[in-house]
Amino acid sequence: LAGRMMDFPLTLTHFLERARTYFPRSEVISRNADKSLHRYTFADFHKRTSKLANALKRLGVKPGDRVATLCWNHYRHLEAYYAVPAMGAVVHTLNLRLHPNDLGYIARHAEDTVLVVDRSLLPLFDKFSAQVPSLRHVIVVPDAGPAPAGKLDYEQLLAAEPDTFDFPKLEENTAAMLCYTSGTTGNPKGVLYSHRSIVLHTLGSCLADVTGMREADRVMPVVPMFHAAAWGLAFDAIFTGATLVMPGPHLDPQSLLELMTETKVTMAGGVPTIWLGILALLDAAPKKWDLSTVRSMLIGGSAAPPSLIEGFKQRHGLEVVHAWGMTELSPVGTMAKLKGELKEAPQEAQAAARASQGFALPFVETRVVADDGRHLPWDGKTMGELEVRGPWVAGSYYGDEGQDRFTADGWFKTGDVVTIDAAGYVRICDRAKEVIKSGGEWISSVALENALMAHPAVLEAAVFAGKHPKWDERPLAAVVLKPGQTATKNELAAHLEKQFAKFWMPDDYLFIPQIPRNSTGKFLKSKLREEFGEHLMK
Ligand code: ADP
Repeated sequence: LAGRMMDFPLTLTHFLERARTYFPRSEVISRNADKSLHRYTFADFHKRTSKLANALKRLGVKPGDRVATLCWNHYRHLEAYYAVPAMGAVVHTLNLRLHPNDLGYIARHAEDTVLVVDRSLLPLFDKFSAQVPSLRHVIVVPDAGPAPAGKLDYEQLLAAEPDTFDFPKLEENTAAMLCYTSGTTGNPKGVLYSHRSIVLHTLGSCLADVTGMREADRVMPVVPMFHAAAWGLAFDAIFTGATLVMPGPHLDPQSLLELMTETKVTMAGGVPTIWLGILALLDAAPKKWDLSTVRSMLIGGSAAPPSLIEGFKQRHGLEVVHAWGMTELSPVGTMAKLKGELKEAPQEAQAAARASQGFALPFVETRVVADDGRHLPWDGKTMGELEVRGPWVAGSYYGDEGQDRFTADGWFKTGDVVTIDAAGYVRICDRAKEVIKSGGEWISSVALENALMAHPAVLEAAVFAGKHPKWDERPLAAVVLKPGQTATKNELAAHLEKQFAKFWMPDDYLFIPQIPRNSTGKFLKSKLREEFGEHLMK
């Protein structure tokens, strides 16, 4: 028997309407390239988004066309985030930290027809423009002076257009946004979100036990809009009516702290590197910034060291919430909120839960699978690959690459090696390619790194597999010490010995000036393996 309710499409067009109707006075505050602040309301946002849709239509953008962006986080990028999907086309966010050859590959693969690019990023675009024959128009955002002669200027285009647009009625499964994984594992692969998947991800993310975002919030996505849709924060904010604070290109800890104070941010999201820098500044001068409005700092993208989470909590009274996600999951999959049953538990158990990747959001289902396909128990000990499914999980990639990541029974293989405990808390031990296989046993590099980063002299540590004549692989630790601090190998080993079995202990510690990182700030362990992988064979 079929239900008798309306078949009402879940689309971003509704978000736009809602912003205009109910939250016209909410604000979007953006940091300009010259560090000044630009402010406007959701009413202005709606008008300009309509103008942009008119301009794109005039340039010949048709439903399904890919319109690329190469921009920092700011209000014009936000306009493209909404105008393009709401007119039935696909906004394709290009990651400005990638190598020009990768950008050329991705834009060509996506067959982008129009590009919206920050003036300051034109030199980058010039390096790959020749590789994208499908591009018909380049629209320059005048963030650092007007568009050069011969290129379209974003503001001039908008100035000529009416501020209303008759947005079409869309099917909810229409493609809305295209985002490529950063390619740490093979060629970049395209993930094509639909209106429906974004809407459901927004609803799931805003629940009280997830981000709990609400109209009164002032939300700062530090995570770039060109990476995994800024974790959905720009969608969540327009949907809930929360004010958005966009940091533009100024992502150093000092600038972020100034912006958080000045605009009274209540919620922010970023990768661990960002928060490590902020914590160091706060520790050095705790009274300098007033963060009393901040109620939640989201952290994810790579493992957040427990010492970071606890450091914010103990020394500054700030709540850091750890989440796990992937481009393929829109991106949020799990979030480490404490369940009621843990509120009475000892401090260490609470800290351990907060430092885990958390349990799955509604509609995201998880399972742990062994190499031979066996389903593994949720005992908090047995490691296997995490597989997920749900309405905002990719069902296939855009293009031919990587389709072996989808199982015959409808699950997505994340490539992350995890344990899940009886309460459902997931702990990422490694990426499948990075787990250390020593004499047939698996060793979690993430657990060792977290412990090393809890040592007072250690700024950062990455543990990776070194080749070993007897054991195949053994853990090696690359360590960056805090400026002016010292620690010997023996001291670090003594620090780890208290927590780990003997065969987990790194065979050596390499002191280096910095850990190599990829375009989204994650440790690039392949680089460490290239450089030091033979260290134990000598
Ligand atoms: P890429 O796969 O190209 O790095 P993503 O940004 O989509 O692009 O990365 C997703 C991966 O990042 C996950 O598979 C996982 O390995 C890692 N990751 C994300 N969040 C966390 C977290 N909280 N803890 C540990 N690893 C994480």
